[in-house]
Parts: sequence; structure tokens; C-alpha cells
Amino acid sequence: MLANKYDVIVIGGGLAGLRAAIEAQAKGASVLIVSKLHPLRSHSGAAQGGVNAPLANNPEAKDDTPEKHAYDTVKGSDFLADQDAVQLMTATAPEIIYELEHWGCPFSRTDDGRIAQRPFGGAGYPRTCYGADKTGLYMLHTLYEQVIKRNITIISDFFVTALIVEGDTCYGVAGIDMVKGRIETIVGHSVIVATGGAGRVYGKSSNALTSTGLGMALAYWVGAPLKDMEFIQFHPTGIIYKHILMTEGCRGEGGYLVNSKNERFMQKYAPSKMELAQRDIVSRSIATEIEQGRGFTARDGSGYVHLDMRHLGAEKIMERLPGVRDICLEFLGLDIVKEPAPIQPVQHYTMGGIDTDVNGATSVRGLYAAGECACVSVHGANRLGGNSLLETLVFGKLSGLAAARYIADVKQKSYIPQNLIANISRFYESNFKRITNSKGEEKHRVLKNELNETMDKLVGIFRTAQDLQAALAKVKTLKERFNHLGPPQDGLKFNYDILTHLELEANIDVAEAVIVGALKREESRGSHSRKDFPARNDKDFLKHTLVYYRAKGEVDVQYRPVAMTKYQPEERKY
Ligand SMILES: Cc1cc2nc3c(=O)[nH]c(=O)nc-3n(C[C@H](O)[C@H](O)[C@H](O)COP(=O)(O)OP(=O)(O)OC[C@H]3O[C@@H](n4cnc5c(N)ncnc54)[C@H](O)[C@@H]3O)c2cc1C
Repeated sequence: MLANKYDVIVIGGGLAGLRAAIEAQAKGASVLIVSKLHPLRSHSGAAQGGVNAPLANNPEAKDDTPEKHAYDTVKGSDFLADQDAVQLMTATAPEIIYELEHWGCPFSRTDDGRIAQRPFGGAGYPRTCYGADKTGLYMLHTLYEQVIKRNITIISDFFVTALIVEGDTCYGVAGIDMVKGRIETIVGHSVIVATGGAGRVYGKSSNALTSTGLGMALAYWVGAPLKDMEFIQFHPTGIIYKHILMTEGCRGEGGYLVNSKNERFMQKYAPSKMELAQRDIVSRSIATEIEQGRGFTARDGSGYVHLDMRHLGAEKIMERLPGVRDICLEFLGLDIVKEPAPIQPVQHYTMGGIDTDVNGATSVRGLYAAGECACVSVHGANRLGGNSLLETLVFGKLSGLAAARYIADVKQKSYIPQNLIANISRFYESNFKRITNSKGEEKHRVLKNELNETMDKLVGIFRTAQDLQAALAKVKTLKERFNHLGPPQDGLKFNYDILTHLELEANIDVAEAVIVGALKREESRGSHSRKDFPARNDKDFLKHTLVYYRAKGEVDVQYRPVAMTKYQPEERKY
């Protein structure tokens, strides 16, 4: 057990966690970041395309405003985003981007030295600020430098597997220090979960293998509901076999989508926006082309279409999209300067997550969440590209602020119960022994593969009640089989066998929340497309889904109205 008591413990060293830590410390809190990866290896570093802010720097975006950004975001969300949260995010966007610029983030520039902005899907103006195609990496380095400058303590390779909660209050975290090979508990007055998305519940995903959803499950298991989990974003352009992303910037810079008949098929589906229609629309269009026989067939039997960038020319590709060129050279052995890229839609983003208010507060006292693991909600049923990096900054900052304010209050009133931590440690260790002493024969990798295949096949771009019911039945059997896993290998030092074992339970529970939400939402909205309910149904479903974890692993589904301000739902056309 660590004796240290921190005011704020941040789980996760990605963009949301780093921004939260900076803010909490700036407000006087003592802050600890624990992260299973070194912060600079966080998944945020994979973000290529850019971050949205209505700076009006592009000559074609002179009239851009936070209000227009808000409208595009709400329309993009298929009217499921909370409009107060969206307006807060877009109003804060310019100042938070300029702050990052002043901290040294190397954004690409216009000829007159301002932050350059490129077009992205679903946006009325070119509003996406970028650093070539390495925006997330540049942002991550910039925030990490600020964390180091402020002497904020970081423990990397610390894998959190439980939150310490008594009654309705969170008092810290428990997990494995992988370097020391020890189970540890760390106490704190408040905890911010910033653990990223749950993409790896799917097999065909653009997400890092580390985006497993465990952080979401940690909050879910202690009483915070998961919100809108059925809304899984499929990105239109993952490369075949590897599912690595070709950023939306490829289409923003002018790349075309072409089917096997050499047709620019987006003409049929979104004539005014073409390839820059929103991700849900482009993904469904590609899936339809493939389903109707106008795709190509890959060696693994899956369908694909072409993303053609040859007409952009070598110079533009090398300047604006060097990273995606490297990815295609490295993983497919083809040069996008000379050949089109074979792409197919892949799981990309978890629009749902831990239910929070605009300050990152959950329903558990002292527990906050920010970034992709959280659902504020600003993305609703479909996220605009470039808005999630913005979300990490804005709501990372706000959750750090709120956590610091909360501790100022609790420090005076109460203190962490003395015997709680010892009890938790004992419970945790005995629970751990149960796993290591287990006599079962199931293997976690087999269960994980079956879960991934189920999600890919039955909970994909197009859904039906029949498929979702089959997926739910499968998940229930996986839950039962989880109890019969064999013991992991001995030892705790960098023992990924144990970590994968521990994560699997979270994977299964998070997947169940996705499926249950999808089954009960009998309409099509944004990324959630039901073949058996093809229309959006505002009368019955203009509401958020809240899935609660209950005793014995049961789930309870409730709903909450969407926060509306000035934008009335309208049909989404592009
Ligand atoms: C390929 C790709 C490209 C993208 N491009 C863009 C883009 O151009 N623009 C845009 O807006 N969005 C983009 N996104 C989305 C965006 O990158 C992510 O939503 C965002 O970076 C998430 O940041 P985060 O801080 O919430 O989480 P992450 O960056 O994923 O960080 C999570 C952190 O939590 C830690 N962690 C997780 N679990 C635990 C645990 N149990 N114990 C301890 N630590 C833990 C990890 O170590 C990590 O430090 C892209 C996503 C992908 C997959």
C-alpha cells in the first residue's frame, strides 16, 4: 500500500489526463498521474488529422464562429448531443487551441504564419487545425512538457484494476505496479478517469491494442452508468488487413473514394458533400457498395474500395500526408503517390462512455471522467472528425478544475476513512488469489477472440434485432465461461497474461452495454443503423441510454432526455 495521499489522482496519461492534471495542479491540488503506458505512448499520439476550432484562419472560413461550429456538431450528432455541452466546447475551442500554440505545439501554418486549417467531414468550413498528419503526437508532447515543467508526479506502467469506493464516495485506486511487480492501493480525495476508448472490444479496429475499455468498466462497476454505448463510430478508411487509419485529412485534402466500376460513388449518397459527408454516412455508403457487389475482394474475403490520392501529386502528399504514405508503404507495400489505397470501414471511436456532466463529474462523489472514456455528451450519435481532440482539451481542463474545487471542500469536512484502505487492500489481494488459484481450463485469448468476432459480425455498421440478440446470448455465455478461466502465469512484473485476464471481464461487460443499448434503441440515428428500424424516431428515442451495472452482473437500462437549447431536430441531409 502506498502511504501517499494525493488530492487528485488522474488515471491515464493521454491528452485528457495530462490536460486535467495541469489544471488541477494549477488550482493548488497535489496531483498524481498513474498510467499503464508512458504518457507519450498513449493512444492520443495516433491522432493524425487534426483538432477543430473556429479560428477563421482559412480564407474560405472567414465567417466561421463558435455558433456555426456548434450547429455542425449538433447536426453531425444526429441531434443526440447535449447542446449546452456542445456550445461550451465550441466557445472554449479558440482559447484552448491558442493556449496549446503558446505552449509550443508545432501546428502547420498559413503563408502569413497563422495556424493552418483544413476541411473535415460534416464541417461547414475548413476548421481543423493540424500539424501535418501527426497532430495528436504533437499535442501529446506539448502537454507532456507542461506536466514535466510543473513537476507533476507520474507513475507509468501502473495498471489500475479497481476504484476504491465506499458508500457513494471514491477514495482512490488499486492496481498493479508492473515495474515493482506489486499490488498497490493509492489513496486520494478525488479520481479522474481518463483511460481512452473501448475500441478493442471489436477485432477490426483502428484503435491501439491498449484501448480496451477497462477504465469505463472501473466506473461502471462502482455505480456510474455508461451512457449511449450503442453509438460506435466506424471510420470509413482503414487499410485492409491491418485496419490502420488513413486520416480523414486524406479526403480533406481532396482524396476520392472509388468503387470497382471506377465510379466516385459518394455522388449517389451525399452529392453536395461527397467524400466529406459525415463518417457514419460515408461508412454506410462504402458498406452498401460492397454489399451490392461494387467493391473489390481482399485475400481474407472481406470487401474494400479504393481511396485514390494520386491526383494530389507527390509534393502535396509528402507535405500534408507523409504519415499515411509511410503506413501504406510499410504495411501494404504500396505507394499512394502511384496507387490507390485499398480501404474498408473499421471500428474507430466510442461515442458513449462514463456518464458525466460538463464538469466531468459522475454520479459517484469524487469520481470524474474525461476524454474518450467519458460521455459528456458532445458527439451524440456521430462524432465529427477533429472534435475528440478538442473534447480531450476542453473537458480534461474542466474536470481538473472541478476535481480541485471538490477537494477544497472535502478536505475540511471529512477525511479518508482510516480502516477503508486496509480493508480494500485485503479484499483486493484475496480476490487476486482467487484468480491465480483458479482451476478452470478456459483461455482468455480464446474468449477475447470470440468476443471480437461477435462484435465485428453482429454489432457492426448495419444491425438487426436478430443479430443483436445472438450477440447478447453469446456475451452471456462468455460471462459464464469467464468464471472458468485457467490461472494466469505467475508473477506480477510486466505480466501481460494477468493483465489480459483482468481486462477481459471489462471487455465483456462493456460489450454487453453496447449490445443492450443497441437492441433497445429501435431506430436508426447517426452511427446506429438498424435495418429493421431504418428511420430516426425522435418521438421515442430523442434520449440518452444509461446502462447501470447491478449485482450479479445484471444490467439495468434507463433513459434521460437530451439537453436542447436552440437547435430543433431536422432531417440530416448533405
Ligand atoms: C488512428 C486514430 C486517429 C485519430 N485521429 C483523430 C483526429 O485526427 N482528430 C480527433 O479529434 N480525434 C482523432 N482520434 C480520436 C482521438 O485520438 C482520441 O479520442 C483521443 O486521443 C483520446 O484521448 P484520451 O486522452 O481520452 O485517451 P488516450 O490517449 O487513449 O489515453 C488513455 C490513457 O489511459 C491510460 N490507461 C488506460 N487504461 C488504464 C488503466 N487501467 N490503468 C492505468 N492507465 C490506463 C493509458 O496508458 C493512456 O495513457 C483518432 C483516433 C484514432 C484511433
